[in-house]
Amino acid sequence: MDHFQYHQGQLQAEEVPIAEIAAAVGTPFYVYSTATLTRHYRLFDEALAGMDHLVCYAMKACGNLAVVALMARLGAGVDVVSMGEYLKARAAGMPGERIVFSGVGKTREEMRVALEGGIRQFNVESEPEMRALSEVASAMGRVAPITIRVNPDVDARTHEKIATGKKENKFGIPIGRAREVYAEAAALPGLEVVGIDVHIGSQLTELAPFGAAYAKVAELTGLLRADGHDIRRLDLGGGLGIPYERSNSAPPQPVEYGEVIRRSVGHLGCEIEIEPGRLIAGNAGLLVSRVIYVKEGEDRRFLILDAAMNDLIRPAMYAAHHDVVPVIEPAAGVEQLPADLVGPVCETGDTFARQRPMPPLAEGDLVAFRSAGAYGAVMASEYNARPLIPEVLVDGHQFAVIRARPSYDEMVNRDTLPPWM
Ligand SMILES: *Cc1c(COP(=O)(O)O)cnc(C)c1O
Repeated sequence: MDHFQYHQGQLQAEEVPIAEIAAAVGTPFYVYSTATLTRHYRLFDEALAGMDHLVCYAMKACGNLAVVALMARLGAGVDVVSMGEYLKARAAGMPGERIVFSGVGKTREEMRVALEGGIRQFNVESEPEMRALSEVASAMGRVAPITIRVNPDVDARTHEKIATGKKENKFGIPIGRAREVYAEAAALPGLEVVGIDVHIGSQLTELAPFGAAYAKVAELTGLLRADGHDIRRLDLGGGLGIPYERSNSAPPQPVEYGEVIRRSVGHLGCEIEIEPGRLIAGNAGLLVSRVIYVKEGEDRRFLILDAAMNDLIRPAMYAAHHDVVPVIEPAAGVEQLPADLVGPVCETGDTFARQRPMPPLAEGDLVAFRSAGAYGAVMASEYNARPLIPEVLVDGHQFAVIRARPSYDEMVNRDTLPPWM
Protein backbone atom coordinates (compact mmCIF):
# COMPACT_ATOMS: atom_id res chain seq x y z
CA MET A 1 0.00 0.00 0.00
CA ASP A 2 1.21 3.52 -0.73
CA HIS A 3 -0.06 7.04 -0.16
CA PHE A 4 -0.48 8.10 -3.79
CA GLN A 5 -4.22 8.04 -4.43
CA TYR A 6 -6.82 9.99 -6.36
CA HIS A 7 -8.93 12.43 -4.38
CA GLN A 8 -11.77 14.15 -6.21
CA GLY A 9 -10.22 13.23 -9.52
CA GLN A 10 -6.71 14.48 -8.69
CA LEU A 11 -3.69 12.30 -7.94
CA GLN A 12 -2.20 13.23 -4.58
CA ALA A 13 0.92 12.44 -2.62
CA GLU A 14 -0.57 12.04 0.84
CA GLU A 15 -2.65 15.25 1.13
CA VAL A 16 -0.81 17.25 -1.52
CA PRO A 17 -2.10 17.37 -5.11
CA ILE A 18 0.64 16.34 -7.54
CA ALA A 19 -0.41 19.16 -9.87
CA GLU A 20 0.35 21.65 -7.09
CA ILE A 21 3.91 20.33 -6.74
CA ALA A 22 4.33 20.36 -10.52
CA ALA A 23 3.27 24.01 -10.63
CA ALA A 24 5.78 24.86 -7.89
CA VAL A 25 8.85 22.92 -9.03
CA GLY A 26 8.26 22.23 -12.72
CA THR A 27 8.50 18.84 -14.41
CA PRO A 28 9.91 16.26 -14.39
CA PHE A 29 10.50 15.56 -10.68
CA TYR A 30 10.56 12.75 -8.15
CA VAL A 31 8.24 12.87 -5.16
CA TYR A 32 8.45 10.65 -2.07
CA SER A 33 5.89 10.00 0.64
CA THR A 34 7.03 10.12 4.26
CA ALA A 35 4.04 8.02 5.38
CA THR A 36 4.85 5.28 2.86
CA LEU A 37 8.57 5.21 3.69
CA THR A 38 7.69 5.04 7.37
CA ARG A 39 5.14 2.31 6.88
CA HIS A 40 7.54 0.16 4.87
CA TYR A 41 10.32 0.50 7.44
CA ARG A 42 7.90 -0.47 10.22
CA LEU A 43 6.66 -3.53 8.32
CA PHE A 44 10.19 -4.92 8.40
CA ASP A 45 10.80 -3.85 11.97
CA GLU A 46 7.59 -5.57 13.06
CA ALA A 47 8.33 -8.66 10.96
CA LEU A 48 11.42 -9.26 13.08
CA ALA A 49 9.74 -8.50 16.42
CA GLY A 50 10.90 -10.79 19.19
CA MET A 51 14.34 -11.22 17.66
CA ASP A 52 17.22 -8.90 18.47
CA HIS A 53 17.44 -7.05 15.14
CA LEU A 54 18.32 -3.95 13.15
CA VAL A 55 16.76 -2.98 9.82
CA CYS A 56 19.61 -1.38 7.84
CA TYR A 57 18.05 0.56 4.98
CA ALA A 58 20.08 0.03 1.79
CA MET A 59 20.47 3.68 0.87
CA LYS A 60 21.70 2.94 -2.64
CA ALA A 61 17.99 2.51 -3.48
CA CYS A 62 17.23 6.15 -2.66
CA GLY A 63 20.00 8.05 -0.95
CA ASN A 64 18.60 11.53 -0.52
CA LEU A 65 19.74 13.09 2.75
CA ALA A 66 16.15 13.68 3.88
CA VAL A 67 15.16 10.06 3.25
CA VAL A 68 18.17 8.76 5.18
CA ALA A 69 17.49 11.28 7.98
CA LEU A 70 13.92 9.98 8.18
CA MET A 71 15.25 6.42 8.49
CA ALA A 72 17.69 7.51 11.20
CA ARG A 73 14.84 9.10 13.17
CA LEU A 74 12.72 5.98 12.84
CA GLY A 75 15.53 4.00 14.46
CA ALA A 76 16.76 2.23 11.33
CA GLY A 77 20.37 1.55 10.51
CA VAL A 78 21.77 1.93 7.03
CA ASP A 79 23.71 -0.19 4.55
CA VAL A 80 26.25 1.86 2.60
CA VAL A 81 28.36 0.82 -0.38
CA SER A 82 30.70 3.78 -0.84
CA MET A 83 32.44 6.54 1.06
CA GLY A 84 29.96 8.99 -0.44
CA GLU A 85 27.06 7.04 1.02
CA TYR A 86 28.88 6.73 4.34
CA LEU A 87 29.43 10.49 4.54
CA LYS A 88 25.85 11.19 3.48
CA ALA A 89 24.52 8.83 6.14
CA ARG A 90 26.60 10.57 8.81
CA ALA A 91 25.45 13.97 7.52
CA ALA A 92 21.87 12.72 7.79
CA GLY A 93 22.39 12.03 11.48
CA MET A 94 22.88 8.27 11.25
CA PRO A 95 25.09 7.14 14.14
CA GLY A 96 28.19 5.18 13.15
CA GLU A 97 27.12 2.20 15.24
CA ARG A 98 24.12 1.75 12.95
CA ILE A 99 26.08 1.84 9.66
CA VAL A 100 27.13 -1.35 7.89
CA PHE A 101 29.54 -1.05 4.98
CA SER A 102 29.03 -3.42 2.03
CA GLY A 103 30.56 -3.63 -1.43
CA VAL A 104 33.20 -5.65 -3.30
CA GLY A 105 35.74 -2.90 -3.79
CA LYS A 106 36.13 -0.85 -0.63
CA THR A 107 39.32 1.17 -0.84
CA ARG A 108 41.72 1.74 2.03
CA GLU A 109 40.63 5.35 2.15
CA GLU A 110 37.00 4.29 2.53
CA MET A 111 37.99 1.90 5.32
CA ARG A 112 39.93 4.62 7.13
CA VAL A 113 37.10 7.14 6.92
CA ALA A 114 34.54 4.66 8.24
CA LEU A 115 36.80 3.47 11.07
CA GLU A 116 37.50 7.05 12.04
CA GLY A 117 33.87 8.12 11.87
CA GLY A 118 32.37 5.04 13.52
CA ILE A 119 31.05 1.85 12.01
CA ARG A 120 28.88 -1.08 13.07
CA GLN A 121 30.63 -3.55 10.82
CA PHE A 122 32.28 -4.06 7.47
CA ASN A 123 30.79 -6.78 5.30
CA VAL A 124 34.01 -8.12 3.80
CA GLU A 125 33.79 -9.70 0.37
CA SER A 126 37.23 -11.15 -0.38
CA GLU A 127 40.52 -12.19 1.17
CA PRO A 128 42.53 -9.29 -0.29
CA GLU A 129 39.95 -6.89 1.14
CA MET A 130 40.15 -8.63 4.51
CA ARG A 131 43.94 -8.27 4.62
CA ALA A 132 43.77 -4.61 3.57
CA LEU A 133 41.20 -3.85 6.25
CA SER A 134 43.32 -5.53 8.93
CA GLU A 135 46.32 -3.44 7.88
CA VAL A 136 44.37 -0.19 7.83
CA ALA A 137 42.75 -0.84 11.21
CA SER A 138 46.04 -1.96 12.82
CA ALA A 139 47.82 1.15 11.56
CA MET A 140 45.11 3.23 13.25
CA GLY A 141 45.34 1.20 16.46
CA ARG A 142 41.82 -0.06 15.89
CA VAL A 143 40.07 -3.37 15.47
CA ALA A 144 37.49 -3.52 12.68
CA PRO A 145 34.32 -5.53 13.35
CA ILE A 146 33.58 -7.71 10.34
CA THR A 147 31.23 -10.21 8.84
CA ILE A 148 32.31 -12.09 5.76
CA ARG A 149 29.87 -12.15 2.88
CA VAL A 150 29.37 -15.70 1.72
CA ASN A 151 28.12 -16.59 -1.72
CA PRO A 152 25.70 -19.47 -1.17
CA ASP A 153 25.34 -20.36 -4.89
CA VAL A 154 21.56 -19.96 -4.76
CA ASP A 155 19.49 -18.88 -7.74
CA ALA A 156 17.50 -15.81 -6.69
CA ARG A 157 15.27 -16.23 -9.77
CA THR A 158 15.38 -12.54 -10.60
CA HIS A 159 16.77 -10.41 -13.46
CA GLU A 160 20.33 -11.50 -14.29
CA LYS A 161 21.71 -7.98 -13.71
CA ILE A 162 20.55 -7.99 -10.09
CA ALA A 163 21.23 -11.62 -9.11
CA THR A 164 24.24 -11.72 -6.77
CA GLY A 165 24.21 -15.10 -5.03
CA LYS A 166 25.37 -17.46 -7.78
CA LYS A 167 28.94 -18.69 -7.89
CA GLU A 168 29.56 -16.90 -11.20
CA ASN A 169 28.68 -13.52 -9.60
CA LYS A 170 31.43 -11.24 -8.28
CA PHE A 171 30.03 -11.09 -4.75
CA GLY A 172 31.25 -12.72 -1.56
CA ILE A 173 33.43 -15.75 -0.99
CA PRO A 174 32.28 -19.24 -1.97
CA ILE A 175 30.45 -20.68 1.02
CA GLY A 176 32.43 -23.91 0.65
CA ARG A 177 35.63 -22.03 1.50
CA ALA A 178 34.18 -20.09 4.39
CA ARG A 179 35.86 -22.03 7.22
CA GLU A 180 39.29 -21.50 5.71
CA VAL A 181 38.69 -17.79 5.17
CA TYR A 182 37.24 -17.29 8.65
CA ALA A 183 40.29 -19.00 10.12
CA GLU A 184 42.54 -16.51 8.36
CA ALA A 185 40.34 -13.57 9.41
CA ALA A 186 40.48 -14.65 13.05
CA ALA A 187 44.28 -14.68 12.88
CA LEU A 188 44.55 -11.16 11.47
CA PRO A 189 45.33 -8.58 14.16
CA GLY A 190 43.11 -5.74 12.92
CA LEU A 191 39.86 -7.70 12.63
CA GLU A 192 37.19 -8.96 14.96
CA VAL A 193 34.85 -11.52 13.41
CA VAL A 194 31.30 -10.84 14.58
CA GLY A 195 29.14 -12.70 12.11
CA ILE A 196 28.15 -13.80 8.63
CA ASP A 197 26.69 -11.79 5.75
CA VAL A 198 24.68 -12.92 2.73
CA HIS A 199 22.77 -11.05 0.00
CA ILE A 200 21.55 -13.03 -2.99
CA GLY A 201 19.96 -10.39 -5.20
CA SER A 202 17.26 -7.83 -5.68
CA GLN A 203 13.58 -7.84 -6.68
CA LEU A 204 13.05 -11.40 -5.44
CA THR A 205 9.43 -12.38 -5.84
CA GLU A 206 9.61 -15.75 -4.08
CA LEU A 207 10.66 -16.71 -0.59
CA ALA A 208 12.25 -20.07 -1.44
CA PRO A 209 15.65 -18.64 -2.52
CA PHE A 210 15.88 -16.69 0.77
CA GLY A 211 15.00 -19.87 2.67
CA ALA A 212 17.67 -21.85 0.81
CA ALA A 213 20.36 -19.22 1.40
CA TYR A 214 19.49 -18.72 5.07
CA ALA A 215 19.50 -22.48 5.70
CA LYS A 216 23.07 -22.56 4.38
CA VAL A 217 23.97 -19.63 6.65
CA ALA A 218 22.46 -21.45 9.65
CA GLU A 219 24.50 -24.56 8.90
CA LEU A 220 27.64 -22.46 8.47
CA THR A 221 26.97 -20.74 11.80
CA GLY A 222 27.18 -24.12 13.52
CA LEU A 223 30.39 -25.06 11.74
CA LEU A 224 32.08 -21.74 12.47
CA ARG A 225 31.06 -21.83 16.10
CA ALA A 226 32.51 -25.32 16.36
CA ASP A 227 35.72 -23.87 14.91
CA GLY A 228 35.75 -21.40 17.80
CA HIS A 229 34.38 -18.25 16.14
CA ASP A 230 31.96 -16.12 18.14
CA ILE A 231 29.25 -15.81 15.49
CA ARG A 232 26.73 -13.48 17.08
CA ARG A 233 25.37 -11.43 14.19
CA LEU A 234 23.77 -12.49 10.90
CA ASP A 235 23.34 -9.92 8.13
CA LEU A 236 20.77 -11.45 5.79
CA GLY A 237 20.91 -8.78 3.08
CA GLY A 238 18.02 -7.18 1.23
CA GLY A 239 16.22 -8.10 -1.94
CA LEU A 240 12.53 -8.56 -1.20
CA GLY A 241 10.66 -7.52 -4.35
CA ILE A 242 7.79 -5.12 -4.87
CA PRO A 243 4.72 -5.26 -7.13
CA TYR A 244 5.60 -3.10 -10.13
CA GLU A 245 2.40 -4.05 -11.93
CA ARG A 246 -0.74 -3.55 -9.94
CA SER A 247 -2.52 -6.07 -12.12
CA ASN A 248 -0.04 -8.85 -11.27
CA SER A 249 0.04 -11.07 -8.22
CA ALA A 250 1.95 -9.45 -5.38
CA PRO A 251 5.31 -10.69 -4.09
CA PRO A 252 5.47 -11.97 -0.50
CA GLN A 253 4.95 -9.53 2.36
CA PRO A 254 7.67 -8.53 4.86
CA VAL A 255 5.82 -10.46 7.58
CA GLU A 256 6.12 -13.69 5.55
CA TYR A 257 9.77 -12.91 4.89
CA GLY A 258 10.20 -12.43 8.64
CA GLU A 259 8.76 -15.91 9.18
CA VAL A 260 11.36 -17.40 6.83
CA ILE A 261 14.08 -15.70 8.88
CA ARG A 262 12.59 -16.89 12.16
CA ARG A 263 12.31 -20.47 10.92
CA SER A 264 15.76 -20.66 9.33
CA VAL A 265 18.00 -18.76 11.77
CA GLY A 266 15.75 -17.74 14.70
CA HIS A 267 17.03 -20.56 16.93
CA LEU A 268 20.67 -19.47 16.72
CA GLY A 269 20.46 -16.63 19.21
CA CYS A 270 22.09 -14.21 16.80
CA GLU A 271 21.35 -10.57 16.33
CA ILE A 272 19.63 -10.26 12.92
CA GLU A 273 20.30 -7.52 10.39
CA ILE A 274 18.45 -7.09 7.12
CA GLU A 275 19.20 -4.58 4.37
CA PRO A 276 16.01 -3.81 2.45
CA GLY A 277 16.20 -0.97 -0.07
CA ARG A 278 13.69 -1.39 -2.85
CA LEU A 279 10.78 -2.43 -0.68
CA ILE A 280 11.18 0.59 1.57
CA ALA A 281 11.65 3.22 -1.15
CA GLY A 282 10.22 1.77 -4.38
CA ASN A 283 6.52 2.29 -3.92
CA ALA A 284 7.16 5.38 -1.80
CA GLY A 285 8.10 7.43 -4.87
CA LEU A 286 6.66 8.70 -8.14
CA LEU A 287 8.35 10.21 -11.15
CA VAL A 288 6.08 12.97 -12.44
CA SER A 289 6.36 14.05 -16.05
CA ARG A 290 4.49 16.12 -18.61
CA VAL A 291 3.41 15.15 -22.11
CA ILE A 292 5.33 17.34 -24.56
CA TYR A 293 3.74 16.01 -27.73
CA VAL A 294 1.38 13.33 -28.88
CA LYS A 295 2.84 12.08 -32.14
CA GLU A 296 0.84 9.90 -34.48
CA GLY A 297 3.38 7.57 -36.07
CA GLU A 298 2.83 5.36 -39.07
CA ASP A 299 1.52 2.43 -37.07
CA ARG A 300 1.54 3.68 -33.51
CA ARG A 301 0.95 6.62 -31.25
CA PHE A 302 3.89 8.07 -29.29
CA LEU A 303 3.47 9.97 -26.06
CA ILE A 304 6.63 12.06 -25.92
CA LEU A 305 7.31 12.92 -22.28
CA ASP A 306 9.67 15.42 -20.68
CA ALA A 307 11.18 12.63 -18.53
CA ALA A 308 13.71 10.37 -20.20
CA MET A 309 16.00 7.40 -19.68
CA ASN A 310 18.55 9.64 -17.97
CA ASP A 311 15.99 10.37 -15.25
CA LEU A 312 14.71 6.80 -14.86
CA ILE A 313 16.91 4.17 -16.44
CA ARG A 314 15.19 1.02 -15.18
CA PRO A 315 13.10 0.35 -18.31
CA ALA A 316 16.17 0.73 -20.58
CA MET A 317 18.52 -1.17 -18.25
CA TYR A 318 16.37 -4.00 -16.93
CA ALA A 319 13.39 -3.95 -19.32
CA ALA A 320 11.54 -2.95 -16.16
CA HIS A 321 7.84 -2.18 -16.06
CA HIS A 322 6.46 0.94 -14.40
CA ASP A 323 2.75 1.65 -14.22
CA VAL A 324 2.13 5.12 -15.66
CA VAL A 325 -1.05 6.92 -14.64
CA PRO A 326 -2.55 10.29 -15.52
CA VAL A 327 -2.51 12.88 -12.74
CA ILE A 328 -6.13 13.78 -13.56
CA GLU A 329 -8.16 10.64 -12.92
CA PRO A 330 -9.62 9.32 -16.17
CA ALA A 331 -13.39 8.96 -16.32
CA ALA A 332 -14.59 5.48 -15.43
CA GLY A 333 -14.86 3.21 -18.47
CA VAL A 334 -12.95 5.56 -20.77
CA GLU A 335 -11.39 3.82 -23.77
CA GLN A 336 -7.71 2.92 -23.39
CA LEU A 337 -5.62 3.04 -26.55
CA PRO A 338 -2.11 1.65 -26.98
CA ALA A 339 0.75 4.13 -26.99
CA ASP A 340 4.54 4.06 -26.82
CA LEU A 341 5.79 6.14 -23.90
CA VAL A 342 9.10 7.72 -24.83
CA GLY A 343 11.45 10.47 -23.70
CA PRO A 344 13.28 13.12 -25.74
CA VAL A 345 16.74 11.47 -25.55
CA CYS A 346 18.36 10.47 -28.83
CA GLU A 347 18.27 6.71 -28.26
CA THR A 348 15.67 4.16 -29.23
CA GLY A 349 16.30 2.72 -25.77
CA ASP A 350 14.72 5.86 -24.37
CA THR A 351 11.38 4.06 -24.32
CA PHE A 352 9.48 3.56 -21.07
CA ALA A 353 6.74 1.35 -22.47
CA ARG A 354 5.63 -0.04 -25.80
CA GLN A 355 2.01 -0.40 -26.87
CA ARG A 356 0.80 0.39 -23.37
CA PRO A 357 -2.98 0.86 -23.08
CA MET A 358 -3.39 4.47 -21.94
CA PRO A 359 -6.40 6.71 -21.38
CA PRO A 360 -6.65 9.80 -23.60
CA LEU A 361 -3.79 12.24 -22.96
CA ALA A 362 -2.97 15.53 -24.60
CA GLU A 363 -0.05 17.94 -24.77
CA GLY A 364 0.61 19.46 -21.36
CA ASP A 365 -1.03 16.67 -19.35
CA LEU A 366 0.80 15.31 -16.32
CA VAL A 367 1.53 11.61 -15.82
CA ALA A 368 3.07 9.75 -12.89
CA PHE A 369 5.35 6.73 -13.02
CA ARG A 370 4.54 4.55 -10.06
CA SER A 371 7.10 2.54 -8.07
CA ALA A 372 9.87 4.94 -9.03
CA GLY A 373 11.24 5.66 -5.56
CA ALA A 374 13.99 3.02 -5.66
CA TYR A 375 16.82 2.94 -8.20
CA GLY A 376 15.29 6.02 -9.82
CA ALA A 377 16.84 9.34 -8.84
CA VAL A 378 20.02 7.62 -7.62
CA MET A 379 20.71 6.19 -11.07
CA ALA A 380 19.97 9.41 -12.95
CA SER A 381 22.54 11.11 -15.14
CA GLU A 382 22.82 14.30 -17.15
CA TYR A 383 22.99 12.46 -20.48
CA ASN A 384 22.05 14.75 -23.35
CA ALA A 385 22.93 17.64 -20.99
CA ARG A 386 19.63 17.27 -19.21
CA PRO A 387 20.03 18.63 -15.66
CA LEU A 388 19.30 16.19 -12.82
CA ILE A 389 15.67 16.51 -11.84
CA PRO A 390 14.51 17.64 -8.40
CA GLU A 391 13.37 15.45 -5.53
CA VAL A 392 10.45 16.44 -3.32
CA LEU A 393 9.36 15.00 0.02
CA VAL A 394 5.74 15.11 1.14
CA ASP A 395 4.61 14.73 4.73
CA GLY A 396 0.87 15.06 5.24
CA HIS A 397 -0.21 18.38 3.78
CA GLN A 398 3.31 19.81 3.43
CA PHE A 399 5.98 19.33 0.81
CA ALA A 400 9.56 20.48 0.38
CA VAL A 401 12.20 20.28 -2.31
CA ILE A 402 14.90 17.98 -0.91
CA ARG A 403 17.16 18.31 -3.93
CA ALA A 404 16.86 21.33 -6.15
CA ARG A 405 17.03 21.27 -9.92
CA PRO A 406 20.39 22.77 -10.92
CA SER A 407 20.21 25.78 -13.19
CA TYR A 408 21.55 25.47 -16.72
CA ASP A 409 24.35 27.83 -15.69
CA GLU A 410 25.35 25.55 -12.82
CA MET A 411 25.41 22.57 -15.12
CA VAL A 412 27.33 24.30 -17.89
CA ASN A 413 29.86 25.87 -15.51
CA ARG A 414 30.85 22.55 -13.96
CA ASP A 415 32.92 21.87 -17.06
CA THR A 416 36.08 23.93 -17.44
CA LEU A 417 38.48 24.62 -20.29
CA PRO A 418 42.12 23.55 -19.95
CA PRO A 419 44.60 26.44 -19.49
CA TRP A 420 45.93 26.16 -23.07
CA MET A 421 42.57 26.86 -24.67
C1 LIG B 1 21.47 -3.66 -3.30
C2 LIG B 1 21.76 -4.26 -2.00
C3 LIG B 1 20.77 -4.31 -1.01
C4 LIG B 1 19.37 -3.82 -1.23
O1 LIG B 1 18.65 -4.61 -2.14
P1 LIG B 1 17.11 -4.32 -2.37
O2 LIG B 1 16.72 -5.26 -3.44
O3 LIG B 1 16.98 -2.91 -2.80
O4 LIG B 1 16.39 -4.60 -1.10
C5 LIG B 1 21.12 -4.83 0.22
N1 LIG B 1 22.38 -5.29 0.47
C6 LIG B 1 23.34 -5.26 -0.45
C7 LIG B 1 24.69 -5.77 -0.11
C8 LIG B 1 23.07 -4.75 -1.72
O5 LIG B 1 24.03 -4.74 -2.64
